[in-house]
Order: sequence, then C-alpha cells, then structure tokens
Amino acid sequence: MGSEIEVSNSNTVVPNDLSAFWMPFTANRQFKKAPRMLVAAKDMHYTTSDGRQVLDGTAGLWCVNAGHARPRIVEAIARQAAELDYAPAFQMGHPKAFELANRIVDIAPNGLNHVLFTNSGSESVETALKLALAYHRVKGEGARSRLIGRERGYHGVNFGGISVGGIVSNRKMFGSLLTGVDHMPHTHNLAKNAYSKGVPEYGTELADELERIVTLHDASTIAAVIVEPVAGSTGVLIPPMGYLKRLREITSKHGILLIFDEVITGFGRLGTPFGADYFGVTPDIMITAKGLTNGVIPMGAVLVSSEIHDAFMQGPEHMIEFFHGYTYSGNPMASAAGLATLETYKEEGLLTRGAELAPIFQDALHSLKGEPHVIDIRNIGLVGAVELDPIAGAPTKRAFSAFLKCYEDGVLVRTTGDIIAMSPPLIISESQIGELIDGVRAALRSID
Ligand code: PMP
Repeated sequence: MGSEIEVSNSNTVVPNDLSAFWMPFTANRQFKKAPRMLVAAKDMHYTTSDGRQVLDGTAGLWCVNAGHARPRIVEAIARQAAELDYAPAFQMGHPKAFELANRIVDIAPNGLNHVLFTNSGSESVETALKLALAYHRVKGEGARSRLIGRERGYHGVNFGGISVGGIVSNRKMFGSLLTGVDHMPHTHNLAKNAYSKGVPEYGTELADELERIVTLHDASTIAAVIVEPVAGSTGVLIPPMGYLKRLREITSKHGILLIFDEVITGFGRLGTPFGADYFGVTPDIMITAKGLTNGVIPMGAVLVSSEIHDAFMQGPEHMIEFFHGYTYSGNPMASAAGLATLETYKEEGLLTRGAELAPIFQDALHSLKGEPHVIDIRNIGLVGAVELDPIAGAPTKRAFSAFLKCYEDGVLVRTTGDIIAMSPPLIISESQIGELIDGVRAALRSID
C-alpha cells in the first residue's frame, strides 16, 4: 500500500508570502530572500520546489537513517491514523507503546531495560536530567544536585539542555542559565589529532578533568555527567581513545550517574546499534530520538538501567513513581512509526551497515585532504566532517558558502561554523558516497 499511496503535488506550490513562519535556527531574513524549499523525498533524494533532485548527505537532520518514504513506515502510519490516532498518555495505555519499548530494549546495551517516551531529543534530555536528580532524592541523597556537561556539548534547546550544553551562543542570547552546572573541556584537539581516521589517539587524560571537578565540589553534591559519545552538532568531535571508558570509571567510583546523549549516535550511525556499543561503555541513562522513528514522526526515548528504575518502584503502589510526562509520550502514531522503523532497520541490517560502509566513506572523505581551505577531516561510522580555515571577521563562513554551492549542485550537507558535516542515510550506495564527496570537492574548489 505504502508505495502506492498517491503523492499529491499540492505541496509543490510555494506560497508568495513567507513572512508568518519564524523558522528555527535560521537567518530568516536571508533565507526568505532566496528560500530553499523541499517538496518531496524518496530514499536517498529530496526534490526541490524547482524540480531538482538533491542527494541527502545528512539524513535530514541526522535522523532519516533508513532513507525517505520507506513503504513499511508510510503504511504503518497510515494504518495507525485510521485505527487509533491518539490515546491519553497518562493512566491509559495502548499496545504499540509497550511493544515499541520492548523492541528498543531488545537492541539496547545490556542493562538498559526500561524506556520513557518523549517527543524530541530536547525533551529526552530534560527527562534524563530530571530522572537523575529524582533518582538521588528517592535514594535519600538529595544533596546530589550538580550536573556536569562538556564544552561544545549540544543537548537540545530546553533549559536543562542548554545549561549542561557548551554552546556559547546560548549563553550570549539567554544569559547565565541553570546554576549548579559545571563543564568538562571538549575533546577537539586540532594540533594533535588533525586528519585522524576514526577514534583520535591523543586526549584520554581530558577525562581526568572530571576527577578535578569532583574533587572541587565533592562527589556527594554531584548527580550526573552528560556527554554525547560523539558530539555531532558542534562539528563531529570524536572522543579520544579510552576517554569514555575513563568517564565511566570515574562516575562509577563516585556514585555519579553517566548519561549518554545518543540522539545522533543512536540507531546505527556509528555502525553499531548505539554509540555505547561502539565504545564498549554502558551509561546509566541513554537519551535517544531522531533515528528512532526515522525522523518521520517526532519521538524520543530515554533508556534507563534496572537499578534506577527499581529505586523508583518503592513505596505505596498507588503512588506516581516519576512525576513527569508529556501529552504525546508514547503517542500511537509515533509508536507505529517507531515499530516500522525498527523492523526496517532489522530487515535491512541497517544498524550495522555503517560498519561495512565506514572504510569506503573514510577513504572518500579523506580524499578531500589538500583541497582548498581544508584544515581537518574526521570520521567515525557513517558520520564525518571537514573543517575549513576560518576567515576572521567575514560575514559568511566558508562552510556555509560550500553548503550553498553543494545544494545548488544537488548535494545536501550540513554546516556549523567552519565545519561541513555529513551523515547520510544508512542505505547510501558506494557510488552515492562518491557523488556526495565529489559534490563537496567541487564546492571547495569554487569558493573563495
Ligand atoms: N541532543 C543531541 C546530541 C542532538 O544532536 C540533538 C539535535 N541535533 C538534540 C539533543 C535535540 O534534539 P531535538 O532537536 O529533537 O530536540
């Protein structure tokens, strides 16, 4: 049925007036002068409003891991809309949310056996942070209230997430944010690790900064440490060898919870189901979203260890164990999309396909070494970045000019600051990897 659903072209009519929609994370005035409109998508390609095909080199925003408009997912959503469109999320249940939680636990690292549903990465982050604080309170250790994040960490846009995150623009725009938060240094070391292939060699000792923060505040005041296994949005920053293991040792030693934000690294991006699998480190709480539903319907999931879960399951049975949730937690449409997505991943081996493609992707990406403006290239699984020489004081970054040129030439990449990032759908073919990298090469040669 899915592939036969007729796609109306009503979407292809671009309104004359674009002023009402205040777009997120976009220079609105600039965009609206020369809008880039996508009107359809199938498998590896978007169609633009002027009828061009654009190769999706970013899986949308790191989420469309199985490629676009996959029939099983389209069909599951259509069927669910007709069968049970919405069910109250509190005090009532519907089978697919329970089924999806089980299927997620099946593929999750051992020990993460419980799932709380959200509607986005940002909500998953807030849920995880609140859970960490509440966990220590139910254990009678309420003084553990400090949260530790990392410079250049991105944990979504809500207050907890921007506080533990390490993005300067958030502090510039919104002020000093939550108190009781510390940051470890980021792990990006251009001088020592430029052009690393996979996990960089230098910098394990940066994890010991955590020990310094613990000494400063005393472990009895610290609730949790949150990191992305690989920081994505701030430019694909891959942790040095042994770094995450060291964080795990330090947190375990001090009774501090370790939270992995796997919004990008989850669901096959690194060639393993989760980043935790890639690095052989299991956190206490794991945050996911994006690839859970192939980006098609907003949904996130927070995975929790049995130890944490069981600590809440005390007290009288009529008690609400965790006073938290959303109107759309475990929403039927999202659950149906999630189930169909996980089936697609399983049937096509997509959660590990990145491992097969990684060497090909790596070779292609590193062939950009020596192209104009390139000062670093880094990669892991099916995610990679090319960093460009910054131009001090220039109104437009070179990476943004390269992104525009790529788009014009039919290739979609992502840009943050001076970095071009790529994270294609896990169904990409070898020749499409070549096409993507050649698109970037041509763009680099064409910009000033
Ligand atoms: N955490 C990480 C690591 C992310 O990369 C993102 C989104 N790029 C988020 C959280 C926020 O997710 P969302 O945009 O779905 O709220």
